[in-house]
Amino acid sequence: MFALTYARARADFIAAAKGINAAMHSMIHPLTGKEGEALALDIAVIGNPASPKRLLLSSGCHGVEGYCGSGIQIAALNNHALLRRADEAGVTLVFAHALNPYGFSFVRRVTEDNVDLNRNFLDFTQPLPVNLAYEEFHHLLMPKVWPPDETTRTAITALFESKGMPYAQAAVSGGQHTHADGLHYSGIKPTWSNLSLRQLLRDHCATARQLAWIDVHTGLGPSGHGERIMSPVVNPADAMSAARSHKRANAWWGGNGKTPVTSFQDGTSSSAKLSGTMGATAYQECPNTETTKMALEFGTHPLLEVMHAMRAEQWLEMHPEAPAEQHMAIKQAMMDAFFTNTPLWRQQVTEQTLQALHQSIDGLNHTAHDAV
Ligand SMILES: [Zn+2]
Repeated sequence: MFALTYARARADFIAAAKGINAAMHSMIHPLTGKEGEALALDIAVIGNPASPKRLLLSSGCHGVEGYCGSGIQIAALNNHALLRRADEAGVTLVFAHALNPYGFSFVRRVTEDNVDLNRNFLDFTQPLPVNLAYEEFHHLLMPKVWPPDETTRTAITALFESKGMPYAQAAVSGGQHTHADGLHYSGIKPTWSNLSLRQLLRDHCATARQLAWIDVHTGLGPSGHGERIMSPVVNPADAMSAARSHKRANAWWGGNGKTPVTSFQDGTSSSAKLSGTMGATAYQECPNTETTKMALEFGTHPLLEVMHAMRAEQWLEMHPEAPAEQHMAIKQAMMDAFFTNTPLWRQQVTEQTLQALHQSIDGLNHTAHDAV
């Protein structure tokens, strides 16, 4: 179920979707993948496409994280109890397999333009958010040689220790538009994946009255634990909209305290405060829909290990002349940083996602009843 290439993952997803007679829609990426394969944002719609209640499950925002996301999506497509429950509740399932198929295929976290897709949803007509703190880290994160020499290693350890982990995490991962060769680069215009996701929302979600949206990520938090990170959905004309979406997220996904919902707005999340995240698209593209959104973030390895893998992989991108053996080792470490390929971890991520999907269906069901 969990494939180790994008081409295999895509074929398995399409086969599983067709097996249950899902309606398939594909947006084809302009580039091809690592094996010369077509790249696409594939969407499977299960149920009445005009239903007022929709449940969107998306994954592969951060390319390489799609190896986990794809396996989860296929498990859900094969889960008859879930499909029956959605059908009974009148909830249409919209499964978006790979938001960033380029990064998925090439085992990168970023898009074809080195953009961290979940920092790219900015208003590019306005001055972009400034992340001055990133400047302090960039030259140490991206040394000329890899592995970093002793001077760089000592300097970066000292910088992390002097600034403290929360500051360092926010500086490095918060998003930046000044270093196109750096980490968590927001880009300076919308990427293909940004525009395609917006199209997906307009085509498949905007006519819903209620939308529950779970976006699967990996690489942050304790191994195998799924952190439910709430994304506030803000209507700029309605001051209470964010608070209401927060309240719904807690009610639907909090499991009465058993599966707490966190937020990077109030410091309860393992994620730093980020700019340009995709939550903003929900209201922009679906203004007549009440959207409740969260990221489901599965832990793999400790934060600094994951960051080290990302630095190495970014260095490799800038140094294509690296020996084949080093190339393979760096790519394997990148894969391991975002996908723990053990039976236990695969089971943990699948079960927690299925639980969250069931909770979403119940939430959509109850909200609809309450409104009557
Ligand atoms: Zn992610």
